[in-house]
Amino acid sequence: MPIDLAQHIRNIPDFPIPGVQFKDITSLLLSPDAFNETIARMVDLAAEARVDRLAAVDSRGFIFAAPMATRMGLPLVLLRKAGKLPGATLSYDYNLEYGQASLEVHADDVPSGARVLIIDDLVATGGSLKAAAALIEKAGGETAGIGVVIELIGLGGREALADYDLFSLVTFE
Ligand code: AMP
Repeated sequence: MPIDLAQHIRNIPDFPIPGVQFKDITSLLLSPDAFNETIARMVDLAAEARVDRLAAVDSRGFIFAAPMATRMGLPLVLLRKAGKLPGATLSYDYNLEYGQASLEVHADDVPSGARVLIIDDLVATGGSLKAAAALIEKAGGETAGIGVVIELIGLGGREALADYDLFSLVTFE
């Protein structure tokens, strides 16, 4: 029987604010079989694109991108929240619903023309993945695609990321 990954993702209503249905992956991580299956499926989909490096979005993207990178034999680049990376960085500022955020990457981690597949846990509005792609491009790379475990339908993420090949394993309305 194939594993139903959606069954392993817990829904927490009204977190972190009223009205949000929070998709909690900590329940997925508690099942080694479901976690392993998640990584295997992500690797299968990632293998469809020509990819030189994986880039993981801080912080839940790290959980999925790291085992993917070791299985695929690819370098792993971390896209981090501001002020976390110790070396020389490039940054990209973007707007959140309230306020601003920025993502940073080590300037040398993205060789010119490298095809980078960006990995995160979830796409909602697509704002943070759009910023991630813009940062990869600012650093001189090309976005080879975007892979997420969970896609929330109806929040505009796929539309916002229409310029990119986007794959997801599980969708929720
Ligand atoms: P967005 O930029 O709107 O696509 O959302 C980006 C990030 O916010 C995702 O990578 C998630 O980590 C987190 N996020 C947004 N909405 C949810 C949700 N409903 N459940 C869990 N995480 C969420």
